Order: sequence, then structure tokens, then C-alpha cells
Amino acid sequence: MRHFAIVGSGPAGFYTAEALAKAYGAGAAIDLIDKLPVPYGLIRFGVAPDHQSIKAVSRRYEQVAESEGVRFIGNVAVGEAVSVDQLLGLYDAVVLATGAPHDRALGIAGENLPGVVGSAAFVGWYNGHPDFADLDPPLDGEAAVVIGNGNVALDVARILSKTRDEFAGADIVNHAIDALDHSRLRTITLLGRRGPHQIAMTPKELGELGHLAAASPEVDPGDLPDEGADAALEPGMRKSVAHLRGFVAPDAARPKRIVFDFFARPVRIEGEGRAERVIVERTRLDGARAVGTGEEYAVPARLVVSCIGYAAPPIGGVPYDQTGGRYANEEGRIADRLFAVGWARRGPSGTIGTNRPDGQEVAAQIAAAMPEGSDGGKAGHEGLAALLGARGVHPTSFDDWRTIEAAEVAAARAGAPREKFVRHTDWLSLLGR
Ligand SMILES: Cc1cc2nc3c(=O)[nH]c(=O)nc-3n(C[C@H](O)[C@H](O)[C@H](O)COP(=O)(O)OP(=O)(O)OC[C@H]3O[C@@H](n4cnc5c(N)ncnc54)[C@H](O)[C@@H]3O)c2cc1C
Repeated sequence: MRHFAIVGSGPAGFYTAEALAKAYGAGAAIDLIDKLPVPYGLIRFGVAPDHQSIKAVSRRYEQVAESEGVRFIGNVAVGEAVSVDQLLGLYDAVVLATGAPHDRALGIAGENLPGVVGSAAFVGWYNGHPDFADLDPPLDGEAAVVIGNGNVALDVARILSKTRDEFAGADIVNHAIDALDHSRLRTITLLGRRGPHQIAMTPKELGELGHLAAASPEVDPGDLPDEGADAALEPGMRKSVAHLRGFVAPDAARPKRIVFDFFARPVRIEGEGRAERVIVERTRLDGARAVGTGEEYAVPARLVVSCIGYAAPPIGGVPYDQTGGRYANEEGRIADRLFAVGWARRGPSGTIGTNRPDGQEVAAQIAAAMPEGSDGGKAGHEGLAALLGARGVHPTSFDDWRTIEAAEVAAARAGAPREKFVRHTDWLSLLGR
């Protein structure tokens, strides 16, 4: 019998568990450990609540969690409740699938002013992540700035713009929908250091901005390259840029504006005791690089959301690559019997599906080193249960998650799939702990 620990139950953790279960059949016990009492990582806490079809991938993970040999163990933070070294003592191999939940710093003056938040915090707030339930982002001003030109920035701008009715069928949590409903926001400015040909936004997400009930996207025609230059773009980018070209004639009848401010680099955030404006330097392209022109201007904002990327959480004893914001690894291998997959391996890029080959590759490396039918003499789950018991840590199981899920479905607003519980205490008291 082989015993494997996977740390993190997001897509990368589940794809790794699926591949290991396939490689070993009944010959392996696979523990999927998560610091939260509930599974699925960013599928639950990152993917936008109004994109339910994407969240449906969790049905596949459910099958993995219920397959032979796989066990979900929630409410166990690795690095706190148990160390990686201890896991290596208990398991034949340990796979870090922690994702990259930390916001990258902007590195500019004023970024710690009240009103400035990272996207992990803001997205976590509207998606019911327990760490951000009390974020209370300031929505009392008329202007917000969203820094970044990727899909996360688009998610944030769209969520800030939607009306209550447009959230029908979404699992945005009640505290967020109520706060957004009372928002006084009128202008959301998306800052991008480079131009329309350098965005990292996909056509579907951009296209959605053109169909909002109360908000209209705006692009300055002067920022758009000559139309002929679009021919050199790959097809997805060409579609995205076509959407931007459609945004040059905003609909003045809609009360909210989503302004694309290209060639705009934030240099500092100013305000009296709180964010009031972002000072931006105009840039120009030098090849693919943005270079400053020295021209500065102010964009008003009481809320600033930075969507500029994420970093994996450093864990004691695990070598870390500061530049990449991930665990230092060679093709997923960190050290003997210790691996990384998903965003913990690659850094924060790629879609849900990109994590699948990662999991498969690492499972193949493990299977090659530890052939099916061999036994490493490790204690596995029983050893972990004893260690956690001695420390007074009470893990959750997949059955517990089923209980939580049923209660969330029962508590849903009319038309919504669920109303998430957002606090550890709510989850654990529901389970009678
Ligand atoms: C805002 C946002 C929206 C997105 N929308 C889409 C989309 O629409 N479509 C798409 O294809 N992709 C989307 N993505 C990308 C997608 O979510 C990622 O590719 C994917 O979630 C990465 O998977 P992962 O398993 O590496 O990390 P995660 O999904 O982050 O999972 C990591 C897990 O590890 C756990 N963990 C962390 N530290 C510890 C620890 N110390 N001990 C125990 N457990 C720990 C976490 O609780 C979490 O459950 C989005 C990403 C973001 C940020």
C-alpha cells in the first residue's frame, strides 16, 4: 500500500488525486488535505459567482472525492496544524497544491491606505471566503479604479457594475449583494500599463461588458491601433480587440461607466487617511514594453482593487521562488518525495484545465519512482489522524461537506444555487462541533 498526501483541494489537487487513483487503483490511499473545512479552492472562492457553468466542474471533482482510496480532510492548515516534514514522515509522497492565494504588492506609495484592496481579498469577499467576510470594501464613493488588464480585473469591474437582478442565478453571498445594491459607484476605471493589443482578457468575458443593464464600457478610439494591425493577432485576441473596438461609442443612457484607460501606469495612491485618487503616469510602447512619458494625471477613486497577480503561500522548510511566487521546483519536483502542482508549481496563470496535465505529470513521476504493488511502510491517514487528534485539530470529511452543501442549498435566495456559509464557526457549528 502507498500513502499520498495532496495539500490543497482546488483543481490541481483534484486532478492529481484523479491521476494517482488511476495509476494505483486500490493500491494507494490518497488524502486531499485543505486548510478550509470545504473543498474546491478557487472554483468556490475565485471563479465569478455569475459564471455558474464554469463552477460546474466541481461535479467531476466530487466523483474523484468519492472514488476508492481518496479521502478529503478539511480544516487542516499545512504549515500550522502539521508541517510538511511531518507529512513526509507519514506519507510516501507529498504534493503541494496550495494555489497562489496571496495578492502581489503593487509596490507604490499609498497602497496600504484604507480603500485599497487586492483582488484575492475583494473576490474572496463577494465569493464568501472566510478570511475576507469582514472586508467591507468602500462602495460609498462615485469612483473606483481596478488595476490590471486580465480576466480577474474584468470579473471585478463586472461585479461592481451589475444590478441586483443581474445576479439572479448567481451564488454571490448575501453580504456582498446587499452592499453592492447600495453602492454609489458611477465610474469604474480599468488601468492597463500597455495597450489594447497587450491585454490578457478573453473574448467571452469582454463581450459580457457590452450587455450589462446599467453600465456601459468605454474605450478611447485614440488608444486603438490601426484596424489592419489586428490581422497579426491570434484569433482569440482578435475577437477581444474587436470587442474593444465596439466600446468606442458608449451608451449614455446607462448610468454607470466602465472606462478602459490604456497606457496608464499607477505611480502612487493619495488621500487624507484613505484612498481618494490614483496618480497615473501616461506610458507609450517601446516594443512590447511600457515606458513612462513623465505625464501624470489623477483618477479619483475611493475604492482601488489591484488585480496584478498572486503568489503561493510560503510554507516552513519548502524552497521558494520569490520572482515566480511559487515553490522552487523542476517540472513539479521540489525535493525527494515532495512535489508541486497547479498555481503552486507554475505561478498564477492558465485556466482550470491547465492544471490537469500538471497533476498527471506529477502522478506519472510518482508512479515511476514507486511502482504499483510496492509498500513504503508509511502510516498514512492513521498517523495523521493520531497527530491531529493529539493537537486538538478536528478535520472535516467529504460527508461533512455534503452536510454543509445541503444546508447551503436549503438557505439559497430564490433562484440562486446556494447561500454560502462564510465563517468557520458557521460550518463547524452546523456539524455540531
Ligand atoms: C478571480 C479568479 C477567477 C478565475 N476564473 C476562472 C475562470 O472563469 N475559468 C478558468 O478556467 N479559470 C479561472 N481562474 C483560474 C483557476 O481558478 C485556477 O487555474 C485554479 O483554481 C488553480 O488551481 P489550484 O488547485 O492550483 O489552486 P486553488 O484553486 O487556489 O486551490 C488551492 C487550495 O489549497 C488550499 N490551501 C492553501 N494553502 C494551504 C495550506 N497551507 N494547507 C492546506 N490547504 C491549503 C486552499 O484552501 C485551496 O483550497 C480564476 C482565478 C481567479 C483568481
